[in-house]
Amino acid sequence: MNIDYNDAEAINKHLIHTYNRKIVFESGEGMYLTDVNGKKYLDMGAGIAVNALGYADKDFISDVTSQLNKLIHISNLYFSPSLIDASYLVAEATGLDKVFFTNSGTEAIEGALKMARKYKWLQNKESKGEIIAMEHSFHGRSMGALSVTGKEAYRTAFEPLIGGVKFAEYNNLDSVKALITPDTCAIILETLQGEGGIYPADDEFIKGIRKLCDENDIVMILDEIQCGMGRTGKMFTYEHYGIKPDIVTMAKAIGCGLPIGAFAASSKLMDALVPGDHGTTYGGNPLATAGVCSVFKNFKNKNILANVQKEGAYLRARLDELKDKYDCIIDVRGKGLMLGIEFNVAAGPIIEKLTDAGVLVIAAGTSIIRVVPPLIVEDKHIDSFIEALEGALA
Ligand SMILES: *Cc1c(COP(=O)(O)O)cnc(C)c1O
Repeated sequence: MNIDYNDAEAINKHLIHTYNRKIVFESGEGMYLTDVNGKKYLDMGAGIAVNALGYADKDFISDVTSQLNKLIHISNLYFSPSLIDASYLVAEATGLDKVFFTNSGTEAIEGALKMARKYKWLQNKESKGEIIAMEHSFHGRSMGALSVTGKEAYRTAFEPLIGGVKFAEYNNLDSVKALITPDTCAIILETLQGEGGIYPADDEFIKGIRKLCDENDIVMILDEIQCGMGRTGKMFTYEHYGIKPDIVTMAKAIGCGLPIGAFAASSKLMDALVPGDHGTTYGGNPLATAGVCSVFKNFKNKNILANVQKEGAYLRARLDELKDKYDCIIDVRGKGLMLGIEFNVAAGPIIEKLTDAGVLVIAAGTSIIRVVPPLIVEDKHIDSFIEALEGALA
């Protein structure tokens, strides 16, 4: 089409303005993206923690292309080999028994909430199906996922949302305890809060919630859509705590860019949903699940977890150095390659300067920069990022 991609008005004209976008990207390779003018950017955001294998990974493309040529879609009325293979891979990685594939993270949350409600309903048809969620959480934008998202600015205009949701304070076990009633069916939280500002859960908090859920037969839902799939150096972040949730949600990196999510559940839950209870036309289709299988294969072949542990430590050390050097950095936190840098000034102008210098990062709240690079990042990329960040701060 004859559109000037450098014309801000033209590129925004027919897209609903729910994002403030400026750059038009055309291609990517490894850690880098290239815009329509040929400018190259180091991507430390990975399409919001999605592109774990970076851009244009040859092995991933080869597997997905081969599936593309065989079979793209058949509906969930039938099985495909890649759907079955992917279910085994997710079961093994999560340590849970059964999985349902969706098209996005939000839909994985919807499915998890429905599963928890049905589980409680089977025990007591009068149950009010109460859910405890966390302040500053993010679980998605659909009515159900938004209902458990602890950010009022996202919610207010869209109320009434689903009922029976109460918010507790993250990392404050007593505040969770205080909200439990005989009608509580689920407690949902991110194992490491992403959008809310990169807050890892305390050991005591996660283990305390596991115990509360066990004692009161409450469904523990961990949202690992962002922090799962190797991002923190283990396949799932809950492994750092030696616990297992009843349901885990995943998406983002599980398809490395193919739109797919999933929720997996323990034996306690898995029979709550029966034929007719839940469904999706695309979810888990042959193409997307072939992508999932390829992601798992490539994680193994490319030693992704070991790289996250190594480079996560290096990035953390370099950021800690900057924190000592610059007064405007008040905190560096997170796990593995999911780190947050908190400033005592607005992050927006810093991000803009970085973008001008050809480095992409993402905000999390107004004063926090989120660093979630592809999991193939190397020392040299981290060095370039640190150099650009110092330039932006100076
Ligand atoms: C991104 C995200 C979601 C929503 O996933 P979508 O694929 O955008 O629907 C939910 N929870 C967390 C923690 C996320 O980071």
